Amino acid sequence: MPPVESVKLNKPIHILGAGLSGLSAAIVLARSGCEVHVHEIRADSGARFDGDFQGIENWTRPVDFLTEMKQWGIDPGNFMATPFREIDLVAPDGRISVARTPATAFWLVERGTGERTIDQGLKRQALAAGVRLHYRSTRPREQCDVVATGPRGVTGIVRGELFRTSHPDRVVVQLDDRLAPGAYTYMIVTGGVGLIATVLLRRQRDADRFLDESLAWYHAHYPRLDRDPIRRLGGVGCFALGSRYRVGERLYVGEAAGLQDCLWGFGIRYAVTSGVLAARALLGGEDYEGELRRRLRPFQAASLANRWLLGRLGARGLSGLARVWMWDQERRGDGLPFLSRLYRPSWLHWLLFKTVAGRGLDRIPGPDDGTGARYLPMLPPERRDDWPLSEAGRAVSAARRQPAGKTGHPQEETWQTST
Ligand SMILES: Cc1cc2nc3c(=O)[nH]c(=O)nc-3n(C[C@H](O)[C@H](O)[C@H](O)COP(=O)(O)OP(=O)(O)OC[C@H]3O[C@@H](n4cnc5c(N)ncnc54)[C@H](O)[C@@H]3O)c2cc1C
Repeated sequence: MPPVESVKLNKPIHILGAGLSGLSAAIVLARSGCEVHVHEIRADSGARFDGDFQGIENWTRPVDFLTEMKQWGIDPGNFMATPFREIDLVAPDGRISVARTPATAFWLVERGTGERTIDQGLKRQALAAGVRLHYRSTRPREQCDVVATGPRGVTGIVRGELFRTSHPDRVVVQLDDRLAPGAYTYMIVTGGVGLIATVLLRRQRDADRFLDESLAWYHAHYPRLDRDPIRRLGGVGCFALGSRYRVGERLYVGEAAGLQDCLWGFGIRYAVTSGVLAARALLGGEDYEGELRRRLRPFQAASLANRWLLGRLGARGLSGLARVWMWDQERRGDGLPFLSRLYRPSWLHWLLFKTVAGRGLDRIPGPDDGTGARYLPMLPPERRDDWPLSEAGRAVSAARRQPAGKTGHPQEETWQTST
């Protein structure tokens, strides 16, 4: 996408939601000379994710994401982004392999209201460009040009613990459905702070129990791991699919448009890309609906097909997939092409999407806003989700239940989920 020339719109633009998609749209519009107002119902940008770490994937497009941001006129230099080249990949059979690439596999960013977060970085750029940000404020979406209000339903939840640690920087993804029904657990350690989280597509009510067991698992397998808990966090994720991205003159961006990776939940690239595309469309350059259908929807359909497929592989199938990945990495000297191929839309993805994967989507609760978006509902519990906590899991659970003063465990806090 070449940079847009400066085209000044002669009416103020109103954006609903100051998350990453809304702020990206606002920055591009304001830099082109438009009067831009962003209405955000929360007290600050990033409040939905305070304390979280997230990875921005670098395997769905040939261009590095931070380079792409620069090309769009967004400065990736004013927030913290740490490049990661390898992760520990843990198969359900317990085998730990290192998936690595000579390039940057993903950028690790902080989320929330802290100084170094991507949310605050984009907010600062928006303010510098002259955007008027209205916090604790909303507006009927019919009176907005861009709707950037985030997730539309609940597919799954994430429950995590943030802690201080002396463990070296590391990212671990563990595909064990026992510890994370229907999904995966992960550990991110960067700069002395760690996050261990479990993602649950089933049995969400027992999230703390699965998190306790996950913490015990990480302790058992990473003996150098020490944990001084800061707090527990939680959030919801929604895997959805929009069928229209423009309703009248209104453009839907990010998760409000149902844009999200439905395999593992990498939504940041979708959010920023759609925000930029919406701004360019408003500036008169591009056909928004057409661009999204061409650039993003095929990847989303492929991610839904992958979710369907992985949901049916079972523990042995997932362990087999991890082995094929490592075999491919050995052959090429690079683990990233395997992931790129998994994500790249193909005729097989399309076939699965059309025949089975797309059919599991439900109508989003509440009145249809015209986007026709549908989402993947939470899955019912399965018999294999019922198993007794291990002794180590029970110990983590008991420590958590101690009064705060006795263990030093601070009071719980939760990522806000939706508005
Ligand atoms: C726990 C968790 C972990 C994740 N990890 C990753 C990851 O590692 N990598 C990745 O790429 N993606 C990840 N994602 C997904 C990614 O965070 C989202 O896809 C992305 O932030 C979506 O941006 P958005 O702008 O569409 O929505 P949001 O960030 O939700 O922004 C929407 C904003 O709109 C505001 N709003 C809502 N309703 C109104 C209203 N009526 N009026 C005014 N304002 C309103 C909200 O308060 C919010 O600030 C994760 C998601 C979760 C929940």
